[in-house]
Amino acid sequence: MAQAILAKTGSPVGRSVYISVKAMERGKLLFEEALGAESLELPDNWRPVGTVRAVGSGELLDPSGTRTIRLRGRIKGELENECAIGLEPIRRKFDNEFDLFYYPEELIAEDGEYALTSEDADVGFYEGDGLFLEDAAVEQIVLWLPMRPECEDAERTGSCPHTKAAPEQQTEADAEDPRWNALRGFKLN
Ligand SMILES: [Zn+2]
Repeated sequence: MAQAILAKTGSPVGRSVYISVKAMERGKLLFEEALGAESLELPDNWRPVGTVRAVGSGELLDPSGTRTIRLRGRIKGELENECAIGLEPIRRKFDNEFDLFYYPEELIAEDGEYALTSEDADVGFYEGDGLFLEDAAVEQIVLWLPMRPECEDAERTGSCPHTKAAPEQQTEADAEDPRWNALRGFKLN
């Protein structure tokens, strides 16, 4: 029953699973969604392999007070990219649990600022009547992503087995590039 409450909107940006405060006033929302590449805007050219699965629940805490959205669940999938050094295809699997709190944006507006405490590590804000599950999913994936797309060898050792030289050595090789020889005798006045 709870799943039926979840509104499906024809959002032009691809996001479609809306966690609505109004719907949660009537009870907890359960979701079990397969999110595709079209709805997940990931950085650094990361793409999902197939779909990302998001399973969990949305709840409105303190409906007559802070009206906080609590989003709990599990997100699982696989992403693909190219290694930044050797350009070979790489894949990364993830399977993470999340427990997030979103306060209404008005809360910042009232005070001018909202002081985050150490207990609020997983806190965000929502605008208007709720938030898109896809946006929460992207936030979670970004937290987990490595600093830059690299194969596991490159991440561990700094050099990629798919390229003959590590980045530092490549720089030396460039300096010895014979094409530069023509310029060596050339001096500026
Ligand atoms: Zn690599």
